[in-house]
Amino acid sequence: MAPVSQQICNSVATSLESKSYQEESEMREVDFLEKSYCDETDKRNSIILPNFTYTPLSERMNEKISAGENWFSLEFFPPRTANGAVNLISRFERMNEGNPLFCDVTWHPAGDPGADKPTSSMTVASTMLNYCGIDTMLHITCCQQTRAELKKHLEKARDLGIRNLLALRGDPPANQIEWKAPANGFNYATDLVKFIRQEFGNFFTICVAAYPSGHPTCTSYEDDLIHLKEKVDAGSDFIITQLFFETDTYLKFVTDCRNIGITIPIIPGILPIQAYQSLRHITKLSQLELPQELIDIIEPIKNNDEAIKNYGIHQATQMCKDLLNSGMVNGLHFYTLNKEKATITVLKNVGLWNEDPMRPLPWNVPVSYKRCTEGVRPIFWSSRPKSYVYRTATWDEFPNGRWGNSSSASFRDLNDYYLFYLKSSAPAKELIAQWGENLTCEQDVWNVFYWYITGLENDDGVSVERIPWNDENLSPETQLILSELADLNKNGVLTINSQPSVNAAPSDDPIFGWGNTNGYVFQKAYLEFFTDSENISNLKKILENYPQVNYHMVNKSGDDNYTNCDSLEPIAVTWGVFPGKEIVQPTVVDPIAFNSWKDEAFALWTEQWGKLYPKDSQSYKIIENIHDTYYLVNLVDNNFPSQTCLFEIVNEMLALKKDSSAVTSQEVISS
Ligand SMILES: Cc1cc2nc3c(=O)[nH]c(=O)nc-3n(C[C@H](O)[C@H](O)[C@H](O)COP(=O)(O)OP(=O)(O)OC[C@H]3O[C@@H](n4cnc5c(N)ncnc54)[C@H](O)[C@@H]3O)c2cc1C
Repeated sequence: MAPVSQQICNSVATSLESKSYQEESEMREVDFLEKSYCDETDKRNSIILPNFTYTPLSERMNEKISAGENWFSLEFFPPRTANGAVNLISRFERMNEGNPLFCDVTWHPAGDPGADKPTSSMTVASTMLNYCGIDTMLHITCCQQTRAELKKHLEKARDLGIRNLLALRGDPPANQIEWKAPANGFNYATDLVKFIRQEFGNFFTICVAAYPSGHPTCTSYEDDLIHLKEKVDAGSDFIITQLFFETDTYLKFVTDCRNIGITIPIIPGILPIQAYQSLRHITKLSQLELPQELIDIIEPIKNNDEAIKNYGIHQATQMCKDLLNSGMVNGLHFYTLNKEKATITVLKNVGLWNEDPMRPLPWNVPVSYKRCTEGVRPIFWSSRPKSYVYRTATWDEFPNGRWGNSSSASFRDLNDYYLFYLKSSAPAKELIAQWGENLTCEQDVWNVFYWYITGLENDDGVSVERIPWNDENLSPETQLILSELADLNKNGVLTINSQPSVNAAPSDDPIFGWGNTNGYVFQKAYLEFFTDSENISNLKKILENYPQVNYHMVNKSGDDNYTNCDSLEPIAVTWGVFPGKEIVQPTVVDPIAFNSWKDEAFALWTEQWGKLYPKDSQSYKIIENIHDTYYLVNLVDNNFPSQTCLFEIVNEMLALKKDSSAVTSQEVISS
């Protein structure tokens, strides 16, 4: 690639001293080593409790750069089918565990990107942000759209809470050599950046694209740099580069950018090679030339998928290490191609994958600016956080510090269980295999709960990995009360939520810990389950002897509703004490929220489980009968410093039932 001409340097260079990128790399390497040491120290003392204010992505990125912290981001494209969307959500969540700074979703003009379909870029980006809790950047292209259309998309993105955009021109329609922008449209990404700033001020963080070897249709590398500078000056916050295969290509490009006065972050785009054909396809689409050295390595192994993948991981790892060691790079952007393995392996190899994520709160803190003030949630939705977000999506304000009186806050009805981001990540066939093809009695249902809790396989040798109220693995804290829960479930106390009591565990405890270091966390034992009416009658009597326990029992319609709680006052069930802070109280049991949760919890019987079977089948009728006749119960043991009495209570309840059935069978025998 030709060096930047002197003419360009003279015309647009700033006062930045012109250095070769090798010189610059050497200087920054020392800096980098010093900063890496600081990173470790900072991490141990870092503050992770949310501060309940929104900080734009560009600011957070610049703070990381100033602090010498490294990060990564991940690019995904929208799925082709609605089922693909369900799978993609699970992938987002798994990849979010590594703690990316943000993830982005590409924009495909042919795929109805601004619509509400599960396959639209807009919907996928909104789901990623609002339901997976990932800071999200939406790509948007302008070359085939009018200003009015673009404005509509941008307003929609804003209303969904999206605050980061990758503003692109996009590619003109295929086979159109002499392309002209639509009337009242835009020719270049620069125009789009200007438009966004003009219409939306600083609401959005704006990223733009750049090409380390020059854009394929640019008049020259030098011209392309000038146009990039124009794009930056129009109001861009950071840059992501096209993929490249040689570190030097990127380092030279960044040096050239710096020399003409581009000072914003320039993040290298990394493609771990995953398959020969896809590599050829991508390079053809992007009009990129593969370096001869790389061709010489991959051509002999092109028919060996495993070898190509391994080489891809090796090559990307080496390049990422070189980039980070250059001292010119703090962030790496990965073109994941919607796959996990290669990207995660590379991130682990370079030490950027967060193996031990710290929890700011006991539940996943939302990243959308609309909910960033949220500090308290009812415990009921702890295994269904997406549903909670959905049901509270219209709230203007979120409780912080105290839950307060929720009688005025209305929960949105959950009628649409089949929204792709709310339904189970497993297809119906898999659910039937786990929950039983032919249920013959209620004990068959109880066994499903038992298998789920114990991790044992069902009678058909299938692992029960989920139940309708919990689509994921059990939390580590549940493992501690597993044998007690297993016994209850086998005997018809169908548990759907629980937590053990904790009295001042260190806030960095691997199981219970959350919030800042040097704090202490507390929780009251909690148990929530479905059970039949006979058990409820016995439970009511037993609870009279346990004044330290708050309870709430309700049937499907809400007509039978027993509680010893205040009708409005919530009960704190999780709280933490931290240096320099007021008590943080993120989880409560709230009587009004429980009534909203009750409708959802009962409906899941028929909506998620019953509907797997024909309506006239015995299986459906068994589920329907449980739905119609069981009660939903929650118990809070306020005596958190002592061993909990909740299991004692429920076992007493079961013993009474056993006694009465023994008496009944004795009566039958004697008569
Ligand atoms: C990180 C990244 C993400 C991408 N994501 C998507 C995506 O989601 N969807 C999608 O469809 N495509 C995507 N693309 C591809 C991109 O849309 C194409 O490469 C497109 O051809 C250029 O877009 P741009 O925003 O870089 O264009 P621009 O910055 O407008 O540049 C396009 C060309 O015009 C030239 N130019 C710019 N300004 C002027 C001017 N004033 N006068 C004359 N010439 C000028 C430039 O030198 C360049 O050659 C992505 C590319 C990258 C690198």
